[in-house]
Amino acid sequence: MKSDKNNKNASGTAVRTSLLCVCALLATLGFTSCAKSGKSAVAETGGKLKVSVTFNALSEMAVAVGGEYAVVSAIIPDGTEPHDFEPKAKDMVALSEADVFVYNGLGLESWAQRAVGAAGNAKLVSVDASAGCAPITLPGGGTDPHLWLSIKGAEIETANIAKGFAAADPAHAESYAKNAASYIAELEKLYDEYSGKIASAPSKVIVTGHAAFAYFCGDFGIEQNSVEDVFASGEPNPQQLASLVDFARAKKVKTIFAEELASPSVSRTLADEVGAKVATIYTMEGSEDGKSYIDRMRANLEAVYASLIE
Ligand SMILES: [Zn+2]
Repeated sequence: MKSDKNNKNASGTAVRTSLLCVCALLATLGFTSCAKSGKSAVAETGGKLKVSVTFNALSEMAVAVGGEYAVVSAIIPDGTEPHDFEPKAKDMVALSEADVFVYNGLGLESWAQRAVGAAGNAKLVSVDASAGCAPITLPGGGTDPHLWLSIKGAEIETANIAKGFAAADPAHAESYAKNAASYIAELEKLYDEYSGKIASAPSKVIVTGHAAFAYFCGDFGIEQNSVEDVFASGEPNPQQLASLVDFARAKKVKTIFAEELASPSVSRTLADEVGAKVATIYTMEGSEDGKSYIDRMRANLEAVYASLIE
């Protein structure tokens, strides 16, 4: 749990320098007065906790935890791959006015600390939502960031968000804890509904477009093989595609999963090659089909389970 007050120990000079940065950004954006950056976030949000999260899945968790006491906005716009995102000046302004900043961690938002520093917001509580998880290390080095696609991971993230909200707004700490507990209970119910079914399924392998499901697979003792790597960067070369075709044939894979933000066309090519069908799986990196986090998690579980028994 690393929900700490940022800049708590920063010297006055550092804080002043950061404020100057924010003012410079505001000036660039056409603001004429620096007074804007000093305006109370509480006044602007009608007394509610102003929460900036990085992307869609965390937004859902923050809304569930914050309930009526928080206003949540996402920095990474819908339709943008979080893996490719670079913050803009307006994102620093958002952070300069927020009470809480929630990020996934595990290297997903390599810009997070830089942005928090540039925002120069002494009251900002930063929440590393993945703090305390067991990170999955990638074969080539680095860490797999996709914790939010695992039910158990989402439970950790929800609990961390509640602790961060309580630190920023102790008056409503009890509500945040209660909301988090009920969201976690909902997730746990979903886990219970599928863990036995998936354990008894004959296949234990899924093939996805973007290698985002290692934590999800970890929840249920299954394995993923993917068209694109963990960072959704680039399509496979012909040799990689050929080895995926061999794998899918050997494991008698009947479904190739595809995600909206990763390249569904390669999933389709692979599916055609092995005579499999393409099915949707949600990465929750942006909003998808107007569905909630829980609805998408249920859809993923149902689709994966169906593929393991066909
Ligand atoms: Zn991803």
